[in-house]
Amino acid sequence: MAMPLEVCVLASGSSANATYISSGRTRLLVDCGLAAREIVRRLAELSVDPKHLDGILISHAHTDHFRSAGTMFAKYGVPVFTMLETEDAILGKPACGSFWRVRDCRLFPESIGDISIQTHEVPHGGGVWDSGRPVGFIFRSGTSRIGHVTDAGELPTSFVRALHGVGALVIECNYHRPIIHKKLKDPSFAGYWSYLKWIDGPTGHLSNGQCVDALAEILTEDTAAVFPAHISENHYDPRRDNNDFNIASSSIALQVAGMGLRTRICRTYRREKTEGQKSELVRVD
Ligand SMILES: [Zn+2]
Ligand SMILES: [Zn+2]
Repeated sequence: MAMPLEVCVLASGSSANATYISSGRTRLLVDCGLAAREIVRRLAELSVDPKHLDGILISHAHTDHFRSAGTMFAKYGVPVFTMLETEDAILGKPACGSFWRVRDCRLFPESIGDISIQTHEVPHGGGVWDSGRPVGFIFRSGTSRIGHVTDAGELPTSFVRALHGVGALVIECNYHRPIIHKKLKDPSFAGYWSYLKWIDGPTGHLSNGQCVDALAEILTEDTAAVFPAHISENHYDPRRDNNDFNIASSSIALQVAGMGLRTRICRTYRREKTEGQKSELVRVD
């Protein structure tokens, strides 16, 4: 009997990403960008023992996605999966962190346990040595499907089509375009202009607007929940961020209401969160 999937975004933002996906029998992490002790702490809130994880899937070769994968492998024996080019790119970085501790990093399989895994390539980053071969995912167990895509300059049409009607979707809303465009006219941000232009470009990140456009194609009455993810933070000064949760979630809420749907928008948190801020676990029947 196939079991419904559950999803919980442990952390999402420009400094750390990790999402828990489980069928009850099989437990996966998408990305592993928090410190290992913090992953363990946030899993404990869900009563999950890290030793019971069946795999860590690394979407691409940026530190906020792979940071503690080597430690999780070495300490708890969790197998690590990614694309060949992504493994090479990570190991080629001077700051590859603990990743060298991963023995036999594996290619994405078609399934792990009772969860089937579909990968879709997305354009992101400064070439193969920077980001490897970035991917988004669709997970399935029985009729239960979850989509997961962050760090994409654009969403390929074929991926958007494949995501149609997923039960839950973790999707990037990195930046609010009007904020970036204002900064591109403000000389006090001149030092960040090339970076901001990259974010806004075809190999950068998804904006709230791009996210909403994709949702128009993806959402159906089967989509129970959307998690706005990878909401940009910058310069460690919230007033200078390119986006925040309220702007992102209200853009999505408008789209959901416009389509006459009842899809829930779930709270996500960045690396920093306080005691009372609990990541939501959503079950997708
Ligand atoms: Zn990232
Ligand atoms: Zn990235």
